[in-house]
Amino acid sequence: MMKTDWMFEPDSRHFVLEDYEAALARWCPGCGDHAVLNAVQKLCRDEQLPPEQTVMVSGIGCSSRFPHYMKTYGFHGLHGRALPVACGVRSRRPELNIFVSTGDGDCCSIGTAHWIHALRYNMNMVVMMFDNRVYGLTKNQTSPTSPKGESSNTHPQGAFLSPLNPISVCLSITNASFVAQTVDWNPVHLYETIRAGFEHQGLAFIRIFQRCPHFTDHAFKEFKDEPEKVLLMTHERGIPVNDTVKRVFTNSMQHDPADIDQAHKLARRDDVLPIGLFLRNDQSERYDEYTKRGVNMSNGEKLSALNRELDRFAI
Ligand code: SF4
Repeated sequence: MMKTDWMFEPDSRHFVLEDYEAALARWCPGCGDHAVLNAVQKLCRDEQLPPEQTVMVSGIGCSSRFPHYMKTYGFHGLHGRALPVACGVRSRRPELNIFVSTGDGDCCSIGTAHWIHALRYNMNMVVMMFDNRVYGLTKNQTSPTSPKGESSNTHPQGAFLSPLNPISVCLSITNASFVAQTVDWNPVHLYETIRAGFEHQGLAFIRIFQRCPHFTDHAFKEFKDEPEKVLLMTHERGIPVNDTVKRVFTNSMQHDPADIDQAHKLARRDDVLPIGLFLRNDQSERYDEYTKRGVNMSNGEKLSALNRELDRFAI
């Protein structure tokens, strides 16, 4: 059949930033979430990710409004349940680009079991954990990463316990393959970290120190005001850093992301704020390599396979 002009379909598409921008973000002015949104939209544009093949998955919390602001597919899930949803999507849709946004409360409290097993399953996705050290959406409650003594609506006299260290937890999970840390107030390092996570084949866990000017304005002030208190980890297999980043973060050291012992030591440091890649293991097994088997089977083949399995239980 001869094609007419109105039937013409372009062979290639070129995406611009607007192709990834949905509703106007309703986070507070100055909230670090805006910077992460900008970085992800830029990455999508730079990688020319087809919006219909890109999925944003979230749990509950301020950062979990992320899918509403991306003109891609999205799933705004239940509290702490972003990762099982993302793993379910990844199980049978190996061609999709999957990003997860979760918070310190969402991931490190109610979602802890899912967090641990998702890292062990190491399915291919980027997990961005926005850590503002507080439950912001529910109006200033102590979270697992709130510093000891920090006052909140649930602990007006100050948090009783020392905070959980998400990086130390991640480094201790068998089969974890990519564990990084960055800050929302340096857009170049933030972007490069998310990009490195996207390029990694496996689950990339990225803890993002995220400013919450509404409730924890003071939380990262010393590191913003005194950038020498940030320790920039560099390595040829780590997060790429250009001169702009090096000029800001003059306190730097080489860290080989294959060196798990040094990674643990760096994660425990509280005299500085380490940013960069703690761990990278490209040999970690990926559970999605198993779950994608048979995705191209016809309905008839699926029915036969199902019947074969059911026959195994015949008495
Ligand atoms: Fe951002 Fe905090 Fe406002 Fe939530 S409460 S949108 S985390 S500044």
